Amino acid sequence: MNQHAPTSTKELYTHCVLGTYGRFDLQLARGEGAFVWDESGKKYLDFGAGIAVCSLGHCHPEVTRAVVAQASTLVHTSNLYYTRPQAELASLLVSRVGDGRVFFCNSGAEANEGLIKLSRKFGAATGDRHEVITFLGSFHGRTMTGISATGQEKVKTGFAPLLEGFRHVPFGDLEATESAITPATVAILVEPVQGEGGIHIASREFLQGLRALCDKHNLLLLFDEIQCGLGRTGDWCGWRTIAGTDAEPDAVSWAKGIANGFPLGAFWVRDKAFAGTGGEVRLPSLLGPGSHGTTYGGNAVTCAAGLAVFSIIERENLLLHAKETGASLAKKIRAIGSPLVKEVRQIGLMVGIEILPSLMDLPADAPLPSIVATLEAMQQGILVIPAGEKVIRLLPPLNIRETEIQEAVEKLAAVFRSLETRSSGTSAS
Ligand SMILES: *Cc1c(COP(=O)(O)O)cnc(C)c1O
Repeated sequence: MNQHAPTSTKELYTHCVLGTYGRFDLQLARGEGAFVWDESGKKYLDFGAGIAVCSLGHCHPEVTRAVVAQASTLVHTSNLYYTRPQAELASLLVSRVGDGRVFFCNSGAEANEGLIKLSRKFGAATGDRHEVITFLGSFHGRTMTGISATGQEKVKTGFAPLLEGFRHVPFGDLEATESAITPATVAILVEPVQGEGGIHIASREFLQGLRALCDKHNLLLLFDEIQCGLGRTGDWCGWRTIAGTDAEPDAVSWAKGIANGFPLGAFWVRDKAFAGTGGEVRLPSLLGPGSHGTTYGGNAVTCAAGLAVFSIIERENLLLHAKETGASLAKKIRAIGSPLVKEVRQIGLMVGIEILPSLMDLPADAPLPSIVATLEAMQQGILVIPAGEKVIRLLPPLNIRETEIQEAVEKLAAVFRSLETRSSGTSAS
């Protein structure tokens, strides 16, 4: 081991990077649009886009130019001062979502942290309440707050004691949600489309019902749009793709697609008045000076990237493009007609393919079926993202071209064919 210093990227990781990820054996060196290249020069069609992050594809030249220009002007100031890019990005978000105020941070988990801190303040101002209802199969990030909010046991193992004050109920079940409301409940936090959970799309009735429950019990309706927000579903607001304007939230968290890969998260708080114990409470004023903060969040460079993303999506009409292209992608995958495909769930350019593992004939020691399918896709030259045990997710850039959709469908057809023809005894790993 000491005779030769580790040289390959993978070896350096093995020795020096914590093994919190079961990484795929792929050392990526370069990206352009919907394609990435590994260190040996092999090309892959990237239908994961860094988990719904690179909404305009890799290294979009206009985003790069905006970042370079800002990086040569002013990179970082802290939030003790005002900077123009943060002001303009906040104003754009407010103009598309509704009157309110935005806080910028660095990641999705931090954006959700902000939503939970907001609900604690709201609970204190409107009675002695602190409990937040979230849903089974949800994913809200990896901080202690994030894993406490998440309705999946696997992220919590070994981290007790968790943050208290979360109750998890089945996604889509309004009755169970109402039954879980107690005098201590202060908010409901939900992903309008569960992403990590396997692309489960809330129904219009469910979102409207949650809004009604919140109105009835004086609760905050919080949407985690970290994966489904900012264009992915074919609208700036994922919930509006589902429910129009009939289920408007009180606060929303974003990250992933907001800056095409530069680390930026945000949450928005509606300008709305509630009855408090000491008189009227305006929601944004609950987070006044000294109540919350971040050193880097909303840094001028990440916000300049966010501004470029915003203007390209609007100028190129990519919301409509995502809506139409997503529908046609799902249709083409269904048309492959593979018996392995149990269901294709789709909203905009979020597509979940649920596979039938019973038809895959996997040996007992094989990895999860979603991983086996992802590995086979890599073999065929396309990157997809596993979600849970049985689902692979397609989250291509919003500006994906028709030729690339066609290429993806051909590659996926080859993936299904290969998985169908595997027989017992063939090693899947
Ligand atoms: C990715 C994700 C998060 C966590 O975001 P990070 O940037 O990884 O902290 C939270 N919620 C949802 C819905 C996500 O998809």
